[in-house]
Amino acid sequence: MLICPACNRRGIGLLDKFWSGSDTPCRCRHCGGLSYIHSKHRYGLQSGWPAAVNVLAVTALLLGYYYNPHPAFLGAAVFSWIACAVWEVCIAPLQQITEAEAAHSNRFGYLTVIFVMIIAGAFAHCDGSPAATASDDSDAIYAAGERASSCEADAIAALFGLSLKESRASTHNATNAEALSGANEQVFLSCPNEFLKVLSQHDHQAQSAVAYYFAIFETERVRSLLGQFASHPDYAALVERNFAHLLDTATN
Ligand SMILES: [Zn+2]
Repeated sequence: MLICPACNRRGIGLLDKFWSGSDTPCRCRHCGGLSYIHSKHRYGLQSGWPAAVNVLAVTALLLGYYYNPHPAFLGAAVFSWIACAVWEVCIAPLQQITEAEAAHSNRFGYLTVIFVMIIAGAFAHCDGSPAATASDDSDAIYAAGERASSCEADAIAALFGLSLKESRASTHNATNAEALSGANEQVFLSCPNEFLKVLSQHDHQAQSAVAYYFAIFETERVRSLLGQFASHPDYAALVERNFAHLLDTATN
């Protein structure tokens, strides 16, 4: 508990003080008196040591992150920033305020909140891109893989379409990637001729998307089967262009 300026007893909670402003003063638990941190102590340079330590520590930690990009530096920077903010609040003097004064500045407080929300809304719109979240399409991918295991060209093409779609997504989903790789390699292992035939009918972008989601699980079986197509009259070029990385490692 912190000292109340009205009664000089410990009646103010640290968090109450942290959020206090002239519009939202903190109330002493002993005398009920209202007090707040004046904005000149909150935002000004009066806070001295905490502000100086904060700037130095955060600068040093960000420099550290620049030379050695370990997330611990960022975590420490955030922690030090919060610690200095708490320190700043602890040492900032509390000023007394009457109920009437608080009610008066409360009206401006609401206006400030509304203003900030309008500005924030405007910025959110300026950003242009809607907040994209990686969607979990693995059920659809499993179903497409199931259908493609029939070795029908249309079903295989539909599965390849999902690889292309995932590769173009603005955010990536690890579950989708695993499901795609599992489905792609399963179809390749069940019907390699149809798989390569349908793949050869796709453009390079779709081909590299399929090659990207491939050979994660059954790597060795996929490699040895691919090797059989490395000198195939129809598919050698396709295999070389998209799966060379798998064949190179196999021969080494
Ligand atoms: Zn008090």
